[in-house]
Amino acid sequence: MKLTVKPLKQKDAGRGLAAIDRAAMAEMDLENGDYIVLSGQGNRAVARVWPGYPEDENNGIVRIDGQLRQEAGVGIDDNVTVEKADVQPATGVTVALPQNLRVRGNVAPMIRNNLSGQAVTQGQTVPVSFGLGPLSSMSGQKIPLKIAETEPGGTVVVTDSTEIQVSEKPAEQIRGSEGEASSDTPDVTYEDIGGLDNELEQVREMIELPMRHPELFQQLGIEPPKGVLLHGPPGTGKTLMAKAVANEIDAYFTTISGPEIMSKYYGESEEQLREVFEEAEENAPAIVFIDEIDSIAPKRGETQGDVERRVVAQLLSLMDGLEERGQVIVIGATNRVDAIDPALRRGGRFDREIEIGVPDKEGRKEILQVHTRGMPLSEEIDLSGYAENTHGFVGADLASLTKEGAMNALRRIRPELDLESDEIDAEVLEHLEITEEDFKDAMKG
Ligand code: ADP
Repeated sequence: MKLTVKPLKQKDAGRGLAAIDRAAMAEMDLENGDYIVLSGQGNRAVARVWPGYPEDENNGIVRIDGQLRQEAGVGIDDNVTVEKADVQPATGVTVALPQNLRVRGNVAPMIRNNLSGQAVTQGQTVPVSFGLGPLSSMSGQKIPLKIAETEPGGTVVVTDSTEIQVSEKPAEQIRGSEGEASSDTPDVTYEDIGGLDNELEQVREMIELPMRHPELFQQLGIEPPKGVLLHGPPGTGKTLMAKAVANEIDAYFTTISGPEIMSKYYGESEEQLREVFEEAEENAPAIVFIDEIDSIAPKRGETQGDVERRVVAQLLSLMDGLEERGQVIVIGATNRVDAIDPALRRGGRFDREIEIGVPDKEGRKEILQVHTRGMPLSEEIDLSGYAENTHGFVGADLASLTKEGAMNALRRIRPELDLESDEIDAEVLEHLEITEEDFKDAMKG
């Protein structure tokens, strides 16, 4: 049966779930916990069925996260073929850990707990929360493990009796499955962004559509946008959004920092701009992200000097020179939209603008959910309460809050850690929990 792909809610991402509209579930004779194969363009992914959200009822929708979308080779709003899958339980699974994760002792129980119920295939990368997570990466995100081997082969389900082994080789040395993102594509997905559903929808419409279906625009005789301007306070997710879009469409992503490029020696700024655009065109489809674009192109007149004038002229000519097929799109970000040279905001350049505002309570809750997804939170922590009490916090503030909470948990268990050793005891990791107290202290700090 064909269903339309939509993103999962932030809190449900990362667990190999496919939330299917109940009517479609009934039609395919699927039950909660069954496995399905999703097949897109030449790729396939296996997921576990989950009853869809009430609002999707009868809409022919399957919601999967960015990881599954990538594995299945589909994007949001694409159609995907869904069939019931016959997957065997795994008797054994060998996983490979990333090189920089140094754990001592037996991590198998923790990994099994994390993966239990998930369908895995050799070569696949699976995100697993590893105790505090941030211990190794400080990002609060899950750690990517690689499935090195499964017994039997093919796609198998991890159960409570699957024997988990850790490979001698690090994950980096295990051959990946096809469809895996190249390293120049950021690994942020839409499920990593909270509270910006409407804004994401607008960005998608302006960028994904022309990049994926240029023929639509040709047919209609309209020019796809060359530039989109995201504006709003710092730390609200502008960069995150640009990266997520690039990732969803498997586009090459390259960044220019406004202040950095302006600090170059005479003539070098233009040269570097040219190089970045060249690189993007060579690797198209591509997104060029220009952060703090106001520092490159301040309004003419009072602030603009000779250097700015030349750099703006260069940027304008580079954008005007972009092919009209919409395969390179420039995303500019600024927190001072009124301070930008109006020439940049005219037709054919950054003529689409999206405001990224400070999140409201619901948005804050989603953001907190994103950042605690990989963390062992105690049951007593009520994220809604924290969303309520963090008026004025932007995404970056909320991310720091959760990180600080995790750091507090870390300080608590510090006496148990052997700081002489550069490895962490699996036993300690397994029992690590972030408590209400840790979060409360983080709020005070
Ligand atoms: P901006 O580009 O608007 O200044 P960023 O996208 O660089 O902000 O955000 C900085 C960090 O703050 C991100 O890496 C992320 O951890 C967090 N963050 C900001 N906005 C959001 C959001 N809407 N959802 C989830 N995390 C966010």
